[in-house]
Amino acid sequence: MLTDTIRSMSDDAATGQATGEQPPLDLTAAERRLAEVEAALERLEENSYGRCSSCGRPIDDADLELEPQRSLCARCSTGGG
Ligand SMILES: [Zn+2]
Repeated sequence: MLTDTIRSMSDDAATGQATGEQPPLDLTAAERRLAEVEAALERLEENSYGRCSSCGRPIDDADLELEPQRSLCARCSTGGG
């Protein structure tokens, strides 16, 4: 029946409509990363960039390439000592 078809089309349109709600942005993760990058920039200015903030040993170049904002050497960041 035509009316049934029209009714089902209208139902689809109603349920398919966006609610206007959006998923919340993960601001904390973004803010944490920004803080890490800012801390790395501060260490650059203090000429301590690339050194472990815990033991003072130089951080591996490969680790710095992966995580330029890194502040701990591989040993300290894994907690093994
Ligand atoms: Zn260290």
